Amino acid sequence: MERTDILVIGGGLAGLRAAIAAHDAGRTVAVMSKVYPIRSHSGAAQGGVNASLGNHPDGGDDTWQGHAFDTIKGSDYLADQPRAEILAKDAPAAVIEMEHWGAYFSRFDDGRIAQRPFGGAGFPRTCFAADRTGHHLLHTCWEQTLKRGIKVYSEWLLLELVKHGDAVVGAVALHIPTGDIESFPTGAVILGAGGHGRIFAKTTNAYINTGSATAAAYRAGARLEDMEFVQFHPTTLYGTNILISEGVRGEGGLLRGADGERFMDRYAPSVMELAPRDIVARGIQTEANEGRAFEGDGSGYVHLDIRHLGADVITTRLPGIRQIAMEFAGVDPIDEPIPVQPGQHYSMGGIACDEDGVTDLPGLYAAGECSCVSVHGANRLGGNSLLETLVFGKRAGDRAAANAGGSGGSGGGAGDVPSFVYDKAVQTQHDLIDAFASRDSGVRQIDIRRRMQQTMTAKVGVFRDEAPLADAVSELAGLREEYASVSLDATNRCFNYDLIDTLELGGMIELAEATALGALKRTECRGSHWRIDHPGRDDDNWLKHTMATRADDGTPELSFDDVIITDYEPMERKY
Ligand SMILES: Cc1cc2nc3c(=O)[nH]c(=O)nc-3n(C[C@H](O)[C@H](O)[C@H](O)COP(=O)(O)OP(=O)(O)OC[C@H]3O[C@@H](n4cnc5c(N)ncnc54)[C@H](O)[C@@H]3O)c2cc1C
Repeated sequence: MERTDILVIGGGLAGLRAAIAAHDAGRTVAVMSKVYPIRSHSGAAQGGVNASLGNHPDGGDDTWQGHAFDTIKGSDYLADQPRAEILAKDAPAAVIEMEHWGAYFSRFDDGRIAQRPFGGAGFPRTCFAADRTGHHLLHTCWEQTLKRGIKVYSEWLLLELVKHGDAVVGAVALHIPTGDIESFPTGAVILGAGGHGRIFAKTTNAYINTGSATAAAYRAGARLEDMEFVQFHPTTLYGTNILISEGVRGEGGLLRGADGERFMDRYAPSVMELAPRDIVARGIQTEANEGRAFEGDGSGYVHLDIRHLGADVITTRLPGIRQIAMEFAGVDPIDEPIPVQPGQHYSMGGIACDEDGVTDLPGLYAAGECSCVSVHGANRLGGNSLLETLVFGKRAGDRAAANAGGSGGSGGGAGDVPSFVYDKAVQTQHDLIDAFASRDSGVRQIDIRRRMQQTMTAKVGVFRDEAPLADAVSELAGLREEYASVSLDATNRCFNYDLIDTLELGGMIELAEATALGALKRTECRGSHWRIDHPGRDDDNWLKHTMATRADDGTPELSFDDVIITDYEPMERKY
């Protein structure tokens, strides 16, 4: 493929925002995405994007400093504080930029962008477009991408990053419609490849959120940070685990147990349903574990009640939620409560990088959910992730553009890389696929995938304990060994999803192992990570980031880095 200065992997919000920035800085840019970009998971985001605009009549005094503090407190003090400050400070400009690019927003009567309250925030700070915010933002960034004529490789699956020495100088990818494998020489790669929620059985994430590009970065030598911090969203639709946005509680939705009682006063009496997600998820799970929820499939569910909001609010502010509840649970929330339970939702951990997306590897940058800039720490606040994609996608694009000047230098530089480096990388992938295709072991990827997902949901979930975590670590190591003998059911070239799922599964198991091992080692409770055998947060020993490096055999090796604390001393997190 033709060489570009910058290759962006990911057509979601982070990838497109990075591509736009790099293009506007004068670089040649291409975007690669395993699905047509507007099918990326960003388009599923419902509730909103945070910025301290102070438009709400009750939010007049809101400041970026207040937003930064809420983010850091919400993170249970694991966020790197200067980076959380950048997130909050750049937020108003990022949202206004989207408005000026033509994004739809819900508005107050005076025409200003409307803001709703979200969990863990001191002010109504979440800007939204009904309950389809991600859809509108993604389409806006897509329009800007098209307007600039940025080259897009759609339905190409990144298989491996190409390195020359230490530097990342390109990618090898599979064209899903034809089965062709090609190399993409470039001066720098920016990963905006999204989350990896599909390592869990119960998740709000799209089927495409496998983390295969994150796993490729890990194989190339990038470190993964804080993988044990997994956000479980309190309200996912019982049965399918489709997200029921926090915006529902922001609009006034109430949680009730099997006897109709509002139970959140037991867990967060001052803010009730609008406590941060980790606290509400544990509240619901505790109600289920102690027999006060509906029984359902064994894991239990509660009711999310919005009947009192009335048909007008429901149909104008929450039309998508109503549609999901009706189509997937047979419940019209105007007349009946919505059955909900916690489910995996967001990956706080990811590829370690700084505020400009710079990773451990020269020529490799990361932004959005696949990255760990460390603004969310141990628990992300709702509305901060869409914001992260815009703020840090732009910064990564700017930095990669500045560094990728010509060949060589800290931006990598495919200009002087011999062609055999790329040829060899392509051949390695052909050999790998041939090995899967020529085997006849009868071991199927789907069996291994399901066992991995069930292990993660059952043993690395909302509540964690030493023995199940240790079991999970050894089960995952066993699955990694079984994976080595997987054979393919289908060997066709076009749209061979048996092959694609097989290729992605190896990386998923490795991300799951890093998550489970981090959870086993971290003997404290912090944010989303709740160890029933180690009550309480332990700042003396655990105010640090978990860093995972991949050993040659694929196992994670952990080390620990300091948290950057500047303005806010860790305090007890009370709501
Ligand atoms: C249902 C749901 C609702 C949400 N609601 C909100 C909300 O209201 N507010 C909020 O702040 N956050 C919300 N989030 C979180 C937020 O939407 C995501 O964290 C964010 O959109 C991720 O954006 P991204 O650009 O990093 O990744 P994505 O949008 O997931 O895009 C990833 C891209 O990478 C590509 N890709 C991945 N792997 C490969 C590969 N191997 N080869 C080629 N391409 C690859 C994909 O094709 C895709 O284009 C929600 C998440 C979910 C799941």
